Amino acid sequence: MAQVTIRGVRKTFGAVDVIHGVDLDITDGEFVVLVGPSGCGKSTLLRMIAGLETISAGTIQIGDRVVNHLPPAQRDIAMVFQNYALYPHMTVADNMAFALKLRKTDAATVNDRVQRAADILGLKPYLARYPRQLSGGQRQRVAMGRAIVRDPQVFLFDEPLSNLDAKLRVQMRTEIKELHQRLKTTTIFVTHDQIEAMTMADRIVVMHDGIIEQIGTPLELYDSPRNLFVAGFIGSPA
Ligand code: ADP
Ligand code: MG
Repeated sequence: MAQVTIRGVRKTFGAVDVIHGVDLDITDGEFVVLVGPSGCGKSTLLRMIAGLETISAGTIQIGDRVVNHLPPAQRDIAMVFQNYALYPHMTVADNMAFALKLRKTDAATVNDRVQRAADILGLKPYLARYPRQLSGGQRQRVAMGRAIVRDPQVFLFDEPLSNLDAKLRVQMRTEIKELHQRLKTTTIFVTHDQIEAMTMADRIVVMHDGIIEQIGTPLELYDSPRNLFVAGFIGSPA
């Protein structure tokens, strides 16, 4: 677990300013939901935290380390994407073990971690299957399993549920929250879905056109939206 500290972070793609200066403090073990309309910069911010995108200005700190110039593998984070990006030719167990093997983790530790993650996620019966033999929800669990086995300080989720049908989405929200109760790993969860934000977050960060409009608990945002955008987006009367 770790705190994440973001100071004056900006991102430009060529001449286009996409993130205009973001300050954000996430505490150790917190579940923060980053919400905002499509194109407002959520994925870009998350990708900068992950190290998948360079930072144009400012600093990002994970724990007590400034990570601006560290490659993704050295940031002690694990990211879960919308398209699970499982390896089709590998079993569930191998999909989960892959990142650990890349890091030259010894076989006994790899096996322990895979078994533990499979246990937590209810995947034990499926370890020998291939992704094509799984349902959408099971594939999403494998994607989470790949993140869990690495035992990272921070989980980053980028709209992990948007490809699932409505019923499964509700179920997975609960599962992800239960996972967080259990592991207490600092989590940044990106979504454009207000309901997802309201039901899952310790604190919500509302983004709009590359800036943060407001940060607060779901109740604070609902009761005291700072402006019409937040009010309209969170769905309370202004
Ligand atoms: P969100 O995840 O909130 O939908 P993104 O972070 O994906 O938003 O995108 C924010 C803005 O940055 C959009 O206008 C998008 O077109 C632009 N953008 C994202 N990635 C790139 C890139 N690699 N090159 C140029 N523009 C980009
Ligand atoms: Mg996005």
